[in-house]
Amino acid sequence: QSEHSEITTCAYCGVGCGFKAEMKGEQVVRMVPWKDGKANEGHACVKGRFAWGYATHKDRITQPMIRAKITDPWREVSWEEAIAHAASEFRRIQAKHGRDSIGGITSSRCTNEETYLVQKLIRAAFGNNNVDTCARVCHSPTGYGLGQTYGTSAGTQTFKSVEHSDVIMVIGANPTAAHPVFGSRMKKRLRGDARRAGAGLIVIDPREIELVSSPHVKADYHLQLRPGTNVAMITALAHVIVTEGWLADAYIDERCDAKSFAQWKEFVARPENSPEATADITGVAPELVRGAARLYALGSADHPQGRQVNSAIYYGLGVTEHAQGSTMVMGIANLAMATGNVGREGVGVNPLRGQNNVQGSCDMGSFPHELPGYRHISDSITRAEFEGAWGVKLSPEPGLRIPNMFEAALEGSFMGLYCEGEDIVQSDPNTQHVTAALSAMECVVVQDIFLNETAKYAHVFLPGSSFMEKDGTFTNAERRISRVTQLMQPLAGYADWEVTQLLSNALGYPMNYGHPREIMAEIAALTPTFAGVSYEKIERLGSVQWPCNEGTEEAGTAIMHKEKFVRGKGRFIITQYVATDEKVTQRFPLLLTTGRILSQYNVGAQTRRTANNQWHGEDRLEIHPHDAQDRGIREGDWVGIESRSGQTVLRATVTERIQPGVVYTTFHFPESGANVITTDSSDWATNCPEYKVTAVQVTPVAQP
Ligand code: SF4
Repeated sequence: QSEHSEITTCAYCGVGCGFKAEMKGEQVVRMVPWKDGKANEGHACVKGRFAWGYATHKDRITQPMIRAKITDPWREVSWEEAIAHAASEFRRIQAKHGRDSIGGITSSRCTNEETYLVQKLIRAAFGNNNVDTCARVCHSPTGYGLGQTYGTSAGTQTFKSVEHSDVIMVIGANPTAAHPVFGSRMKKRLRGDARRAGAGLIVIDPREIELVSSPHVKADYHLQLRPGTNVAMITALAHVIVTEGWLADAYIDERCDAKSFAQWKEFVARPENSPEATADITGVAPELVRGAARLYALGSADHPQGRQVNSAIYYGLGVTEHAQGSTMVMGIANLAMATGNVGREGVGVNPLRGQNNVQGSCDMGSFPHELPGYRHISDSITRAEFEGAWGVKLSPEPGLRIPNMFEAALEGSFMGLYCEGEDIVQSDPNTQHVTAALSAMECVVVQDIFLNETAKYAHVFLPGSSFMEKDGTFTNAERRISRVTQLMQPLAGYADWEVTQLLSNALGYPMNYGHPREIMAEIAALTPTFAGVSYEKIERLGSVQWPCNEGTEEAGTAIMHKEKFVRGKGRFIITQYVATDEKVTQRFPLLLTTGRILSQYNVGAQTRRTANNQWHGEDRLEIHPHDAQDRGIREGDWVGIESRSGQTVLRATVTERIQPGVVYTTFHFPESGANVITTDSSDWATNCPEYKVTAVQVTPVAQP
């Protein structure tokens, strides 16, 4: 068997590390971090480097299956029969319930080309805009918030930019666990010479994440706020900066919209937004908020005199997954503009994307209101472009978001779902609600590499393909588009993009792509920010960053909003704090928040099937010693957790990492049922679920 190597991209987190896959024939022998990979420069974490064996795990399903009812056993069938059955069911449902009674969910795990094809299938072959992506449940507020303030939904920097930061503010993110290679880069900036030269760190998080007090890095400020109070905190920080006169006046005059700035300034300066007035809400001592505001705006006491301070914000799902997720994103964007921290190295606003291709799935038009490139479906000029290229008439009406699909299913108006590469039963909140909605549908088609939790509610199962079995591209959190290289033949015979194409053809809308490079050529032709993207260029340069078109360098754009914001003048938005409906009561006196751990990944479908499981084989509930003692809970005890939505049982870890009154868990194992207890509460603008705030009671229970 020939020995060779191929360059590809990690299929886990949004850092998007490049790997050299060492091969023996079609067998991967080793994944070696790629030295020339721009996102990782030869580094990797325990997931990308070691946890790829799931691709050939014995649990892989390689034969299509159908069944009439979800209580029936599966019946293995040919691809032809499965595709024909799915297509005829979708058409039958549309004939009975109307054109808008079906829709689909794309995946941030799949390639750009695949998500592009799924949204095309839904708009062109289904004839509606009922397409959504799992970004709905993570970074949809980023799309809304950065769109409103800066004009586009993307991080402003490259990862490397952090090497020029004087102050790093991490909000609601845990980079060393969820984005490990970038977390290490951040830590490096906070050690040694850089630290001595005044680099500072502010962490805003209800939990003491590793960055707060790791052996080599300590945060200057840990604003350990109560879950659900982010907006009060960001406004209090802005209050200090405005009232102390630390604004970047010249930058604001030149770069920002004057009217919105004046309104915002008047709002944040109000006494009710001061750290003192909001301390009862956030639970954080005012002097800490004032100190953190000073550090972010002016740098540390050691900062060299006369040199501009570069302050950067990195944030994660602890910002977005709230009832005020979009408001908080806008609050962050306001703070960066107000201090002149957008548009050069070392600064910016950077959403840390959870999944490998969250950025890409959003870029590719997987939202019900947007065509590829974040262009609204109601815009007739944009629609006309796509109608011309696709040869169909497009509906100008935004379609259903994922939660709306569930509601419509329970009302009887949404009866068919095509779900590619997404386990909504395990990952979406309020599992009971999700399963009730799926049970109400007449045809659920799941396309996945494993028979996941959602497949238990499916009528058709189409075997998916892992990142090793297909060509394509992923776009990481710094807008970097990198190649995914086919290392072996698809185990089930088809790559995901081919399956979507088969389904489209069976529905009577022809798709005849011979290779994903042809799909990318279509994307580039129809999406202005991708105009210069091609496989040839990506392979020659290693990767490119969008915008990559006529006005940019050949490799695209490293730093966004350099001369001006994408929308022209940066727009300030008033961020009024509104308390979440999810309140503690006597019955539910603790607030549960959720997160991830280094060795596992999201719903664990991949990592649980690798040796990584040995490091973290279960989800646990972290509880403060005071709360544990009050309840007679000791380390390792089994505890029942009950919320207004449901209940589950986990083992307890008693730790001071979490503050009194708050408990924390991960959601990597289906049996731990973290999302059985999370609620339907969601972001006001985007419906992103409020995973981070659930009122619960915790009690000791016998081992289940
Ligand atoms: Fe993969 Fe993220 Fe780890 Fe890089 S940091 S190897 S992209 S999981």
